[in-house]
Amino acid sequence: MYEVVIVGGSYAGLSAALQLARARRRVLVVDAGVRRNRFASHAHGFLSRDGIAPGELARLGKEQLLAYPTVTWRDGRVGRIARRADDTLEVDGEHALRVILATGVRDDLPAIPGLAERWGDSVFHCPYCHGYELDRGAVGVLGTHPMAEHPALLLVDWGGPVTYLAHGHAIADDARAHLLRRGVAIEAARIADVRDRATVVLDDGRQLAFAGLLAVTQTHPSSPVAAELGCAIATGPTGGTYIQTDAMKQTTVPNVFAAGDAAMMMASIPLAVADGVMAGASAHRSLVMAR
Ligand code: FAD
Ligand code: MG
Repeated sequence: MYEVVIVGGSYAGLSAALQLARARRRVLVVDAGVRRNRFASHAHGFLSRDGIAPGELARLGKEQLLAYPTVTWRDGRVGRIARRADDTLEVDGEHALRVILATGVRDDLPAIPGLAERWGDSVFHCPYCHGYELDRGAVGVLGTHPMAEHPALLLVDWGGPVTYLAHGHAIADDARAHLLRRGVAIEAARIADVRDRATVVLDDGRQLAFAGLLAVTQTHPSSPVAAELGCAIATGPTGGTYIQTDAMKQTTVPNVFAAGDAAMMMASIPLAVADGVMAGASAHRSLVMAR
């Protein structure tokens, strides 16, 4: 029996486990090892670790966590979590008083040929994570989602010319005026494919070369366990989904908590780490305060 089983051992899961390990609680972390940022060579924006390799950050976190004697680590993918009659949980046959879901999300990319191969390199989704590295080069924002107008407006501050590639979609008059006021160029034509580093080939044959391309992705929890367990799932502004929690990271299923990208509308490493702290502390409090 474990007091807490944590599903997912990346930034959010490690961070939750650390709080519990320091309270000397018996914790099992099960991790499939498929982080969302595995496509990127550098991670930016995490205080004191700016520019670190994503895998190195996870490795350091794991090494420090495993120094605590009450932590058990298991490589693998949790397939099934079941509720027991007393509202504790069964995680692939392992009895757990509490569960924290830190399974991360998967990114569904727009269906444009050439994007997937460049994902995490010259195609990115977060201005704060990768905008600076464009070094004021030209950036194209793929207008494959209405929300893409927002990063197009923001990216102007990173200093390079910004083009909103509407991909044949209509742009509302006020959005068009705002983009133009910010100095964003608008290209109406549909995109055929992406080549070379970040060259967009339009349907009419013209080619536009950029230093990088921003794509808004739809994200969904990378594991079905939360939904199968009956946790309420919320829908965010991009149409992506995430596990619904309260401010203490408790899901709608008793004794099940969730943290990180899988349980947030907008996410990054520092936010996932903070969310993990909250879920870990919250699961710990619930063990103590239960009557
Ligand atoms: P993840 O890191 O995705 O980890 C989830 C873990 O759970 C994985 O190891 C997975 O295998 C495991 N798992 C899933 N299901 C199961 C299961 N059923 N059983 C066991 N284990 C399971 N953020 C930044 O702050 N800075 C950046 O520079 C940055 N760059 C990025 C670049 C790219 C290309 C992408 C896509 C994202 C980037 N991000 C960046 C965002 C960052 O990757 C996420 O916010 C962060 O990884 C979220 O951490 P997490 O622990 O919630 O989930
Ligand atoms: Mg995690």
